[in-house]
Amino acid sequence: MLVIGRDNVRDILDKDVEPAAVCSSGDTVVFETRDCYDDGVVCEERPLGDKEDALENPATGPLYVREALPGDVLKVEILDIIPRSWGVMRSSPVAGVFREDFTGRTARIFSLENGKTVFDEKLTLELDTMIGVIGTAPAGTGITTDTPGSHGGNMDCKKIVRGSVLYLPVSVPGALLSMGDLHGLMGDGEVMICGLETGGEVTVRVTVVKACCLPTPFLYCRGDVMTIQSAETLDEAGDMAAKAMKDFIKRAAGKDDFEAAMLMSLLSNMAVCQVVDPLKTVRAEFPLKVLETYGYHLP
Ligand code: CA
Ligand code: CA
Repeated sequence: MLVIGRDNVRDILDKDVEPAAVCSSGDTVVFETRDCYDDGVVCEERPLGDKEDALENPATGPLYVREALPGDVLKVEILDIIPRSWGVMRSSPVAGVFREDFTGRTARIFSLENGKTVFDEKLTLELDTMIGVIGTAPAGTGITTDTPGSHGGNMDCKKIVRGSVLYLPVSVPGALLSMGDLHGLMGDGEVMICGLETGGEVTVRVTVVKACCLPTPFLYCRGDVMTIQSAETLDEAGDMAAKAMKDFIKRAAGKDDFEAAMLMSLLSNMAVCQVVDPLKTVRAEFPLKVLETYGYHLP
C-alpha cells in the first residue's frame, strides 16, 4: 500500500508544492501525520516545545491523484485512523476563547490507550479521533494550514472520523490532497484553541467523481450528510452552510424552495465546528435517509 511518511509535511496547501506521492482513482493510501505542534511539544516541563523552526499545523502530502481534473470532486473515504500512543493539549494567551485567562502556556501530556485517555483520577474519556486539517490545493494563492475554506483545510470538524466520507473540490490537476492535525477528542467549538492533539496514521481511499454537483466541502458521517462552510463570523458561516444544504436538497430530492426550506427547518441540525481559527466554521447536518426516500444516493 502507498504510504506517505510524516517527513512530507507542509504548512500550506498550494498548487506549486511538489507531490509527495502519486496514485490512481480508487487507490488506498496511508498518510502518517504529525501533531499540530509539529511533534515539538513532548513534555509538560517545556510547553513552548523543542523545535525552533516548528511548523504550525503541518499537513502530510500532497497526494496527486492521476484522474483528478479541475471541476471534479475528490471522494475521500476515511477507512481508518490510528492515533499514536500519546496526545498533548496546550493553553494559549493569544488565541482561543479563554486567551485572557492565561498569561503563559501550559502543556498537559495524555496517554492514549485502548481508545481511552485518563483525564484525572476520577474521569476517563473515550476517544473519537478526528482529522482537523484535510484539504485539496486551491487554484490561486496557497492557503496556510491554519485556515479553513472552500478547499477544506483547517475545518476542525469533529465528524471527520473513521467511517466518514469527505467530498472535496478538485481545483488543480491531481487534486493535491493533504491532511494532519489529528485530535483524539474534541468538542464542537474547540474553544481553548486545541483538541487532544496527536499524530497517527490515516488510511483513506480516494476516488475521483466526475460531473458531481455536491456542495463541497461535503461530508457523510453516521447517517447524516453535512455542508461545512467557513467565514469571518459564525453568522455568515451558518447562513452559508444552511443555504448550501437547502440548494442541495432541492437538487437531490427534486423539491422547490419552500419544501426544501421546510425540510431544513424540520430536520437539519446546525452545529459549530470551531470558533478559534482565522475563519469560523459551521456545518448543517441532514439525514441521508430522507433524501434516499426520494431516490437519491451519494456518489
Ligand atoms: Ca485545527
Ligand atoms: Ca489542532
